[in-house]
Amino acid sequence: MTETDTTASSAFEAYLAEHAHERLESYKEMIRIPSISALHEHAADCRRTAEWIRDDLERIGMNHAEVCETGGHPIVYADWLHAPGRPTVLVYCHYDVQPVDPLDLWTSPPFEPVVDGNRILGRGVSDDKGQLHAHLRAIEALLATRDGLPVNLKVCFEGEEESSSVHLDPWLEANRDRLAADFALISDTGFFEGNIPAITIALRGLMYAQIDVTGTALDLHSGGFGGVVENPANALARIITGLKDEEGRILIPGFYDDVVELDPDERRMIAELPFDEAAYLEELGLPELHGEVGYTTLERRGVRPTLDVNGIWGGFQGEGSKTIIPAHAHAKVSCRLVSNQDPVAIFAALREHVLAIAPRGVRVEVRDLGHGLPVHTPIDHPATQAAARALKATFGREPVYLREGGSIPICASFQRILGLPVVLMGFVPPNDQAHAPNEWNDLENYEASIRAIARMWDEVAELEPAALRG
Ligand SMILES: [Zn+2]
Repeated sequence: MTETDTTASSAFEAYLAEHAHERLESYKEMIRIPSISALHEHAADCRRTAEWIRDDLERIGMNHAEVCETGGHPIVYADWLHAPGRPTVLVYCHYDVQPVDPLDLWTSPPFEPVVDGNRILGRGVSDDKGQLHAHLRAIEALLATRDGLPVNLKVCFEGEEESSSVHLDPWLEANRDRLAADFALISDTGFFEGNIPAITIALRGLMYAQIDVTGTALDLHSGGFGGVVENPANALARIITGLKDEEGRILIPGFYDDVVELDPDERRMIAELPFDEAAYLEELGLPELHGEVGYTTLERRGVRPTLDVNGIWGGFQGEGSKTIIPAHAHAKVSCRLVSNQDPVAIFAALREHVLAIAPRGVRVEVRDLGHGLPVHTPIDHPATQAAARALKATFGREPVYLREGGSIPICASFQRILGLPVVLMGFVPPNDQAHAPNEWNDLENYEASIRAIARMWDEVAELEPAALRG
């Protein structure tokens, strides 16, 4: 660290100390606006939150702060582009929140934030208004205590993340030039079990399909026709058992062709994560876990692709018995995908395989119900490493690297539409009860995250823009 850095950082600390009360009040003020994106009656509250953020961005010295129309809840944009030659980062958070029901399980009203020791309680304190607010406060303290930000910054704060981000992709496409950057930083994830700093480096993608098996136009009498026609429900069962073997291997030809295998270093890192498998099993209440042979539970959960039947129906399901051969049977099937699997190619391979193994005597159709790309930014990417150094300097320990089993569609959008590598750095505790009653955030995490974000920008300032895009 140079001498100017030390001076700057003590001024930064002094500024944060001086404004601690104001900061908490502003955090609470933002939480008080009930920006539930899924509920129509809160549309005005979503807009009010967007306006609140725009005014705050203007006040702290960001440029071009704007509430952008999307056709749904607005997106807030602002930038600060006065660091020539330095990298440009696009920051994403969302200001909308989940609905609050069941309301009677809250210990205090969800939109009246309460501080209890180190905890702040309220809807959105963690997901994701708390993280958004930390970004605002880091920018504020940097601009107030230095000549400018260490990097060029663009912020994009969405208002529909909790209701499927319907208008985000078209808005990203329409604003490609304005959003050009070297990488995107998304703060909508959290720490690992035990409140250990974490960087999420991969998210699985998704392919969702429906299999329809059709026999006769109407159900048949199983006495009159049993034994002479193929039964669509039996046929569907045979198809499904042909998709995956007993050892958890998916049987679709070519399914694993593009899967990037883990190197031994990454396998070791995953093995070293503090994970209590016995407690996990106990929590699930199952006799035992099941998955692909040759991989550990954490590998199966985050690193390996899957195939699951999500629903299956057909024939008689009422009380008692009805002797029919059903006219048709159906199943919804989805795959969680990992890099570099292409959901479109996986759907085509699934369809071809299903048609190849389908019993004769029935008609089989496979339909594409939607998909999302997997996301992966390697551990050794310079932006990931900058985030790791910022977390270590702030929290006193190396972060762990997570591969999450779920998907965050917006990450794939940033990757696909804007062509940006994505770094997922979030700071909330893993048991924050996001989406549930009594959502809380740890105020120490929140305070430290403001420092970590500022450090991140200092770390990124040292990097070559071209190396980030590489
Ligand atoms: Zn969120």
